[in-house]
Amino acid sequence: MSKPMQDLELVSVTKRYGPTVAVDAINHRFKPSSYTCLLGPSGCGKSSTLRMIAGHETVSDGSILLSGRDISGLAPAKRGTAMMFQNYALFPHLSVVDNVAFSLKMKGVDVKSRRQKAGEMLELVDLSALSDRLPDQLSGGQQQRVALARALITRPEVLLLDEPLSALDPFLRIRMRAELKKLQKELGISFIHVTHGQDEALALADEIVVMNDAVIEQAGTARDVFNAPTTSFVAQFIGGHNVLTLPTGKFSIRTDAVELTAAAKGKLNAHVAAIEYQGTHVSVLAHTPENQEVTSLVAEADFFTTPHSPGDAIGLTWDEANLHQLTA
Ligand code: ADP
Ligand code: MG
Repeated sequence: MSKPMQDLELVSVTKRYGPTVAVDAINHRFKPSSYTCLLGPSGCGKSSTLRMIAGHETVSDGSILLSGRDISGLAPAKRGTAMMFQNYALFPHLSVVDNVAFSLKMKGVDVKSRRQKAGEMLELVDLSALSDRLPDQLSGGQQQRVALARALITRPEVLLLDEPLSALDPFLRIRMRAELKKLQKELGISFIHVTHGQDEALALADEIVVMNDAVIEQAGTARDVFNAPTTSFVAQFIGGHNVLTLPTGKFSIRTDAVELTAAAKGKLNAHVAAIEYQGTHVSVLAHTPENQEVTSLVAEADFFTTPHSPGDAIGLTWDEANLHQLTA
């Protein structure tokens, strides 16, 4: 199923809905054969971007290139992309196998060949045993796999997934995300997965593209984005970071890189404002006299060696190498 060149690129892509600019001249080259998450808060333009790639929404300006050709004017079925929808959109009156085979039926493939191809796809998603059931006889997780098989039967170069896990309960969500990742590696095609969940993006993505307010704020590997956010927005949205305003500028630092010291022995003086026990760690929220809020995530055993209570005067310190200067 994999093709050598599935190289997807957005060139100054803009989406306007009347006066609303939902996507503002974004540029990005997706890494071939990799798992990319488009991450950002609700309303930042993720779904609009995905739907323009899929062809379910027109591009107001700019172009979308796949393997060197401009696909932005093509019908969805002619692009080499396939989309899996949030609500799965299965046909209630068709069996599992006929749901999966549907796009081949539209193409005029005979019933025997299309059921055979659909059977192969159901094997891929581990659903062979349920091929004669109707969608409402399946669990949410099983319906999702049918939707996946139905998208994959078109042999796309790029699979587009809009919040594919949001309808599942937390336990199933974690299991399904592992399956999505495994499937992407097996197929070797590109997956572009829209999510507003930072945990989901960190767990899944080879590359994270963080969007905010119609633009791309930062793109990089999950580790790069988490270790070195470049803007205050990314540092705050990705979680687990403090944004510090110091005499030399604005910096981010991971909460687990801020250490507690005795009062007047640190780089900043502070008071403990709140303590939260989190099992493996204790989260200590401190306020500085300048009213900065700083969180220090302390390993549980270390915290209880020198415990603190709200109101205590403490110092905060860190290794300078863990500070990352922010550009905005
Ligand atoms: P996200 O998926 O990140 O939540 P969307 O791409 O759905 O964001 O929406 C981006 C912006 O475009 C929002 O302000 C939203 O209200 C607006 N928008 C989305 N779809 C439409 C539409 N069909 N008509 C008008 N405005 C829309
Ligand atoms: Mg959306």
